[in-house]
Amino acid sequence: MDDLHIERLWLANNLRNYNYIAVCRKTGEALVIDPFAVDQILVVVKQNSWTVKAVVNTHDHGDHIAGNADVITATGAPLLAPTNAAINNVDQWLNEGDQINLGESIVFDIIDTSGHTLPHISLLSNTQTPELLCGDTIFNAGAGNVHSGDAITLYETFENKISKLTDSTRIYPGHDYMQTNLEFTLSIEADNQAAKQMLQQANHHSPENQIITNIGQEKAFNTFLRLSETAVIKNLTNRYPELGAEPSRQAVFLKLRELRNNW
Ligand SMILES: [Zn+2]
Repeated sequence: MDDLHIERLWLANNLRNYNYIAVCRKTGEALVIDPFAVDQILVVVKQNSWTVKAVVNTHDHGDHIAGNADVITATGAPLLAPTNAAINNVDQWLNEGDQINLGESIVFDIIDTSGHTLPHISLLSNTQTPELLCGDTIFNAGAGNVHSGDAITLYETFENKISKLTDSTRIYPGHDYMQTNLEFTLSIEADNQAAKQMLQQANHHSPENQIITNIGQEKAFNTFLRLSETAVIKNLTNRYPELGAEPSRQAVFLKLRELRNNW
């Protein structure tokens, strides 16, 4: 078993947030990621006698940083956040290529996954099963919105970073949108069997116990990772002839992102 445990907290709020605590099973050292529900976090930390080594923000949206100050006051942990994020009292700025050590053997690589916001980082563990704490970059069966970011940058993140991860990499997004995203996939690819099966399974789980997916699974039902699928292209070019007969992968991504905004 990997030394790394990811504790997922379901916030049961309208934004459908998850909060995460990454913990070394051997030493009890912990990273609190994007704290919002401070009370929930501190109860779990205390119950398990974990030592919070750092608070890490993936990006500067309010629902990912609102708990920073209270967790820091309670634990004395330093705050780590992406360079150029609009976040106060940061002790260490993070950039692509930086690493965060946890316990004796766990290392998280910081990867730049900008697009939902500029900047945005994700944490990728070096464990046998890689774990990706991805904020609002990739969701189960979906992609982050770009209301305060940039769609082309998010496309490049999906092409150059997310789709290059090994299939066994598990993802830990900041929100639960699993079923809505799978329904969006099926609106584009009505015959996607993997999406149908996952939707059936997901419907049997409450959000606190929702299925954790990996990149291999995502490639089968996340439409933002299926930009060259004939069925996806056909659906879009039939409905939007202005895309031309052979739209680029970027054009497909941008159209999907636009459609998902109104889904
Ligand atoms: Zn966000």
